[in-house]
Order: sequence, then C-alpha cells, then structure tokens
Amino acid sequence: MRKIAVLTSGGDAPGMNAAVRAVVRKAIHDGMEVYGVSHGYNGLINNDIKKMDLGDVGDMIHRGGTFLYSARCEEFRTEEGRQRAADNLKALGIEGLVVIGGDGTYMGAGELSRLGVKTVGVPATIDNDIVGTDVTIGYDTALNTIVDMIDRIRDTATSHERTFIIEVMGRDSGELALNAGLAAGAETIFIPERNTKMEDVAERIQAGLDRGKKHSLIVVAEGVMSAEYCSNELAKYINIETRISVLGHIQRGGKPSASDRVLGSRLGAYAVNLLQDGRSGVGAGISKNELTATDFTYVRVHDKQYDNSIYLLSKELSI
Ligand code: ATP
Repeated sequence: MRKIAVLTSGGDAPGMNAAVRAVVRKAIHDGMEVYGVSHGYNGLINNDIKKMDLGDVGDMIHRGGTFLYSARCEEFRTEEGRQRAADNLKALGIEGLVVIGGDGTYMGAGELSRLGVKTVGVPATIDNDIVGTDVTIGYDTALNTIVDMIDRIRDTATSHERTFIIEVMGRDSGELALNAGLAAGAETIFIPERNTKMEDVAERIQAGLDRGKKHSLIVVAEGVMSAEYCSNELAKYINIETRISVLGHIQRGGKPSASDRVLGSRLGAYAVNLLQDGRSGVGAGISKNELTATDFTYVRVHDKQYDNSIYLLSKELSI
C-alpha cells in the first residue's frame, strides 16, 4: 500500500491528535504517502483531502480536540454519499483509510470497505463503549476531568452540608459515571445499565444523615435522566435541600492525559500496520496491553459489558 488517508469523526476526544500524529509519522516512516481528511466523512465527500508532511502534525501531541476537525455527516449514511467518498479516494490513488472515532464512525467505515476502500478504525470516544478494546482514546482524560470537578463540588457540598447531584456524559454507557462515582466517593451512581430505585437512594441518604454525614454526592449518567429530574424525583422521598451541577462539554475538552497520548500513539501506528498487512474492516484495540484487531461486524452486534463489581464496590464503600 502506497497511499493512505486519515480522518477523525463523531464526538471529539482528547488524544485524537496523538493518534493522527502517529498515523502520519508511522506511514511516512514506512515510506508511504499520507493524506489528512478534514471534517470527518464530510471531507471525504467534499474532497477536503490534503497531503500531509511530518511537520503538519508537529506540536499536536499535547492538544485536546482534533485539528482535523470532526463532524457528523448525514450524507455518508446514503449509498450515493459513500460512493462519492470512495470515488474521491480512488481518484487520488488512496487505497487505505484510518478512521478515528466511535462505533458510529466504525459503521460508516464498514460500509466504505464494502466499496473497495481498505479501512481500519481507531477507537476514540470518551464513553469507552467500543467492543474490541479495553479502553478508548479520550476516556482516561475525561474520567480525570470529571473526578477533578466532583472533588471541587465536594468542597462546597461539605461546607454547606448539602446533597449535590452531578450529571455526567453517557447516553447509553455508564462507564464514565460508574468509575468517576467510585473515584470521587459518590454515595449513589445512576447508570443506564442498571435500575436504581429512588426510594433506596433516599433511604441511603437518610441513613447517612442519621449517622452524622454532612453531605452526599449523587452521580447520574445523562442517559438515565437529567440532574434536575433526579432532584425532583428525590424530593418525593426525602426532605433535603439539593443542588445540581451539569458538567456538560467541559468533560470532552482539555489536554490529553499521558495514558491517552500513549494509547493514541500506539493505536494510530498499529492501524497503519494493519493496513500494511492488507487488513480491512477491523478496529484496532488494546486488550490486556496487547494490540488486537476486531472485525467491525463483531463490534456492531456486541455491546460492551459494564463491570457490575465496580457498581457493587462503590455501594459498599460509600455507605
Ligand atoms: P460518538 O458516539 O462517540 O460521538 P461516533 O463515531 O459513534 O462517536 P456517530 O455520530 O454515531 O459518532 O457517527 C459518526 C458518523 O459516522 C456519522 O455522522 C455518519 O456520517 C457515520 N455513520 C454512522 N453510522 C453509520 C452507518 N450505519 N452507515 C454509514 N455511516 C454511518
């Protein structure tokens, strides 16, 4: 393979830049030409594709977001859109593509591989919800950002002896809420994968108050309910003053942690290796510190399992 391209797609994640840098530098190191596609799949369709040099990824490894820009692209969900993308790549003689993004991005890449473009995915999403890798690029940074924010909220919660409800990202996956809740010592964690009864939450808070606890922290994944709704529901079972905090996009930004830079570098370079080996329709990943490749079809039909032991542990420790 002589020419490959790289793009970032879906929600941005800290460490995407490290992954792009790795793809570009590894490909050039191995004697290939490499192209950067801007604005995700939109850039493929609109021919926003430029040849990259070693210097184009300089001073990038420590930056959050993605300098290639990311986008959601409705046109790529259509047959015509994808055909245009494939034609544009073929016209430039580009045989392989590395897509950096979440599972939606993988699905798009799978469709493209059926049109003859060899595609490899690199898992980057703060949600850590992609099958085929123990951890996704961006997760570690986001988790640390959330825990840092909750620590600050805890100071206020203690000073004013209040219950705080903190809403964190996670539409379908409770991974961030679960581990942030454990790391921040939250009394209750609501995740989409589990049903937690509000009466039980109220009982736990009351038990805490009875033994002299000054504050409570409740972490709720956005996919379960909003912090506001949670506060209103809780008020039906216990008469306490609550405050809410919605962390929002602050969770996605910021410079990538060392772990995310290492992961981005390893998986980006590995994706190039996979293309060199003639692989296509697979996502790069890391499992027990070993690099692995998993078929997109497998990723599509399996859901990442959450670790129930973490949930139970957080309950035991925050009593
Ligand atoms: P995240 O969910 O972490 O934000 P993601 O990669 O899952 O990241 P999506 O918005 O689901 O984000 O997908 C990114 C893009 O991939 C979509 O805007 C669309 O262009 C393309 N895509 C997603 N699913 C498909 C599909 N089934 N067929 C073709 N293209 C798709």
